[in-house]
Amino acid sequence: MDGFDGRGAVITGGASGIGLATATEFARRGASVVLGDVDKPGLEQAVDHLRAEGFDAHGLLCDVRHRAEVIRLADEAFRLLGHVDVVFSNAGIVIAGPIAEMTHDDWRWVIDIDLWGSIHAVEAFLPRLLKQGTGGHITFTASFAGLVPNAGLGSYGVAKYGVVGLAETLAREIKADGIGVSVLCPMVVETKLVANSERIRGADYGLSATPDATEALGPLPAQDDTLGVDDVARLTADAILANRLYILPHEASRASIRRRFERIDRTFDDQAAEGWRH
Ligand code: NAD
Repeated sequence: MDGFDGRGAVITGGASGIGLATATEFARRGASVVLGDVDKPGLEQAVDHLRAEGFDAHGLLCDVRHRAEVIRLADEAFRLLGHVDVVFSNAGIVIAGPIAEMTHDDWRWVIDIDLWGSIHAVEAFLPRLLKQGTGGHITFTASFAGLVPNAGLGSYGVAKYGVVGLAETLAREIKADGIGVSVLCPMVVETKLVANSERIRGADYGLSATPDATEALGPLPAQDDTLGVDDVARLTADAILANRLYILPHEASRASIRRRFERIDRTFDDQAAEGWRH
């Protein structure tokens, strides 16, 4: 994609945090935006704010756990904008706590939103982007926890590793159609993610295994590493224009990512040293 001017963009989880900041960045660069979110008052506030800035913005209630709702979001976005060029599958929640303490409902909750939400975005938007035939870009928000293991964030990591795998594979498969793919993998970004997650968790999933998620998040990077949403939004918009697969806002994540790949690579040497020859 060579620019945002005149483009149509859909952002899930667009009522708050990274989603709203990125929608604002797209709009500043000339895009019309449709925000999808479960937070009705937040959505209304976000749309009012964007319109007050003179941007073309629309809000639609959409729970990404439900494929039918994401398909409706796609239908409405194409109707409102005429075309959709950028899809940002970003809606998400976080749950913390050791794997041994995760209840079945904890697993269902995090996978339903953080992994199925992105699969639903692909199911709803990809056929239409392909049919539209004018290229475009699909961006996912995963996490640093989708690239390396974070003790205390295991179930969240399983969902986010899935999102990274989805993005990496999709990037290869739809390159020839002129559709780019990016996956955002930040460490800590200043948002209300933890508080929003606790609020969003509905009766469907029972009580959280770890009621105090903030405390359970454990050893997070030093405060210095926390980024603001506007910086992450700018980097995300730039990555789309550069058609960069990975969006890695935190330099501090670099060493851990390298160590993971070194650990995998070293395994071949260890096996060979023990006589494994194949
Ligand atoms: P946020 O809570 O400010 O924004 C998340 C938005 O998603 C909210 O508006 C919320 O209402 C919406 N949402 C939640 N469940 C939904 C559902 N089922 N359907 C539709 N919308 C839903 O938090 P954020 O930090 O901006 O989170 C955005 C994404 O960034 C998430 O996927 C999160 O996992 C990821 N992330 C955040 C951080 C961080 O430190 N903030 C780090 C890594 C990854």
